[in-house]
Amino acid sequence: MSSTGTKKDSSGWRRQTLAVRGGQARSNFGETSEPLYLTSGYVYDAAEQAEARFKGENDGFIYSRFSNPTVGMFEERIAAIEGMERAMATATGMAAVNASLLAQLKAGDHVVSAQALFGSCRYIIEDILPRFGIEKTLVEGHDLDQWRDAMRPNTVCGFLETPSNPMLDIVDLKAIANILHDGGARLVVDNAFATPALQRPGEFGADVVVYSATKHIDGQGRCLGGVVLGSEEFVEEILKPFLRHTGPALSPFNAWVMLKGLETLELRVARHCASAATIADFLEGHDQVTRVIYPFLASHPGVALAKQQMTAGGGIVTFDIEGGKDGAFRFLNGLKIVDISNNLGDSKSLITHPATTTHQRISEEDRLAIGIKPTTVRLSVGLEDVDDLIDDIRDALGAV
Ligand SMILES: *Cc1c(COP(=O)(O)O)cnc(C)c1O
Repeated sequence: MSSTGTKKDSSGWRRQTLAVRGGQARSNFGETSEPLYLTSGYVYDAAEQAEARFKGENDGFIYSRFSNPTVGMFEERIAAIEGMERAMATATGMAAVNASLLAQLKAGDHVVSAQALFGSCRYIIEDILPRFGIEKTLVEGHDLDQWRDAMRPNTVCGFLETPSNPMLDIVDLKAIANILHDGGARLVVDNAFATPALQRPGEFGADVVVYSATKHIDGQGRCLGGVVLGSEEFVEEILKPFLRHTGPALSPFNAWVMLKGLETLELRVARHCASAATIADFLEGHDQVTRVIYPFLASHPGVALAKQQMTAGGGIVTFDIEGGKDGAFRFLNGLKIVDISNNLGDSKSLITHPATTTHQRISEEDRLAIGIKPTTVRLSVGLEDVDDLIDDIRDALGAV
């Protein structure tokens, strides 16, 4: 539900204006910043009003598991930026992914998913859904024939990440949306790596977009959060009842942090991308680095598609270091500025070794099938001075 309070007419505003002002509902105190409503419940003027509200005849607030004014402002703002009709926030990115799927699936349904996924997304598709009688087919995201062949009469949705975590595979959103739509199925896209600043999957036909707001939307490593975006119909009829009754609500405090994060998202992401592109170039020219993956590098197999779908290459660079797992570990341990952490999208540069952390649960065979080697590291480029980052990386490579 939308927030109450005084609002300006935002029709016709451009994206960055929406990022700063979209959804703001001023209280009668006239505050400049968005108010933080830390409340679990709401009171009614009379018993009749409570009755009307529960019947849906009066649209005030009922309970913060359903809606909250601060959370509502965050939802309206991100829906405006994304250009989608509605958004609903969740406590984490995984709660958003889980709800986006479970809200629309039932026993006997079938899901097609790209196999290159964040570890927990893959766990939901591969381990949780089948427990409830939901069939799945994993495909190579870039291979359109595999998507076509996987379609069945009971296919309800497809799921993918582009760029994927951590190998930065680029998947053709429009082509896959068409394949799914021809079969009467929806496309769900986890857009965490691109952010709405770089890529809006709805413009390419995605029906549902999900975010881990924990990443670049907060952008400073403070709060967990997530969002699911879709049409009015999808949100009202499918998603909202599921979220209301299962309860993965975003805390108003975290929503307030995310709301403020959206104001600077485009500026921060532009810097993340510029520094990541500079670092990718540096790494490509370094002889101890055996492979560099970055969507806007000419050597990336998906570069042409990436440039159609995204306005910049993103803030993550994945690369391989010579010397096996030991070499990768020596490199991580040698870094003095960049921290070892499995998080990403932070103002602080963070690096992880996916094979032993985020993707350790999946078998080595499956890891190799998606390109994760013992030598692979994933760098989330932060907002530090890029020359300091390059010095740090160069010194740590020297220690390998
Ligand atoms: C981090 C991440 C998630 C999960 O988000 P949380 O906020 O940590 O629950 C889901 N998908 C992708 C692509 C991610 O990077």
